[in-house]
Amino acid sequence: MINKPSYGQVIEIDKGRLSVPDNPIIPYIDGDGIGRDITSAMMVVVDAAVEKVGKGKRKIEWIKVFAGEEAYDKYGEYLPEETLNLIREYKVAIKGPLTTPVGGGFRSLNVSLRQLLDLYACVRPVRYYKGVPSPLKNPEFLDIVIFRENTEDVYAGIEYESGSTEENKIRTYLAAEFGVHLPEEVGIGIKPISKENTERLVRRAILYAIDRNKESVTLVHKGNIMKYTEGAFRKWGYQLARQEFGDITITEEELWNRYHGNLPKGKILIKDRIADIMFQHLLLRPKEFGVIAAPNLNGDYLSDAAAAHVGGVGIAPGANISDSMAVFEATHGTAPKYTDKNMANPGSILFSAVMMLEYMGWFDVAETIKTAYETTVLSKIVTYDFARQMEGAKKVGTSEFAQEICRNL
Ligand code: NAP
Repeated sequence: MINKPSYGQVIEIDKGRLSVPDNPIIPYIDGDGIGRDITSAMMVVVDAAVEKVGKGKRKIEWIKVFAGEEAYDKYGEYLPEETLNLIREYKVAIKGPLTTPVGGGFRSLNVSLRQLLDLYACVRPVRYYKGVPSPLKNPEFLDIVIFRENTEDVYAGIEYESGSTEENKIRTYLAAEFGVHLPEEVGIGIKPISKENTERLVRRAILYAIDRNKESVTLVHKGNIMKYTEGAFRKWGYQLARQEFGDITITEEELWNRYHGNLPKGKILIKDRIADIMFQHLLLRPKEFGVIAAPNLNGDYLSDAAAAHVGGVGIAPGANISDSMAVFEATHGTAPKYTDKNMANPGSILFSAVMMLEYMGWFDVAETIKTAYETTVLSKIVTYDFARQMEGAKKVGTSEFAQEICRNL
């Protein structure tokens, strides 16, 4: 049993609106591998920034909850019910990365967490911070927010091993009922994409575009090949935009036919792109994109690829959001070779904390951290991943980097 803090209050969410006390209780999961190093670095910076900006009046009451290897040691299971319940109760949480075995073993804890808490939108902003090394000439042209559907698609976990009873039954059924003959040794996965889940994701993406004055929402799909799943995502996305936001959204067809290619003030352009060409567009025409809404797998690939434009997964933040809860997380994995070496860049989880602070309405604290981060990187004091791409940089460990950011707050 985890002792709840005697001090601090619960964040309340009513119809999507947050009410945040000065001393909110926030659960955190350290995570596996480099998780311990980066999570503690993030908390040092956040605490110092809250203290500084809040002038001692505000303070986060952190509560450590468990998932992954540490949870297994404590509870004998990787994702204990107590952790889920505490996140449900406190509504805003943050986590480090968790190990998932490839090709066998237990199911992804990240995917389970998103599905069990119905955190249906994975939100990943990708923008450039001055001083961060990038392989591009103009990384600052990219400033997007990816809304990735989090609960279905091939991540739904409906997958059967070759030779299993389930696989056998499905293969036999497909042959008998639909005349579809699969090879005998075959793994089978099912890719559900539903109207309901597409709609809530696209709705959230459009609302975000309205809130943040973004000019476009792009639906990224592979509907030319997967017509009734990804193609349906595109169709339902456009329908939702027309039905619920018809007064402020226009399509590309309308943009050219009615407005000669000039987006009228106050309107949001809804467009779609096929997933493969989207990777090229992000590289060659980054200014054309603001908000992106994509099914699960496309969104996963795209967000790591986009992160590479602006410094890599080491600084890419993310959030998993439902209408009543949000779990912020580093988007990279556990980078096992750097475990407990105090080397990893804490940027990803730190910027996830920045997103969390913005979500809580603590924009002043978020802004202070962003500026201090930029100042630190511009002074060329960086972790190994940036140091190897920068000339004349001073390479420091995770905790020293965090201390340096604190000095620059
Ligand atoms: P990874 O852990 O993200 O690491 C891949 C590489 O990315 C690292 O070797 C390192 O590159 C770089 N990197 C990642 N985090 C970094 C950081 N904070 N600072 C600097 N560089 C960083 O990916 P993986 O090796 O494919 O996956 C390892 C495990 O993590 C797997 O079990 C996987 O399932 C899990 N995973 C978890 C999550 C999550 O919890 N959300 C997400 C993805 C993967 P260099 O080697 O070039 O230094």
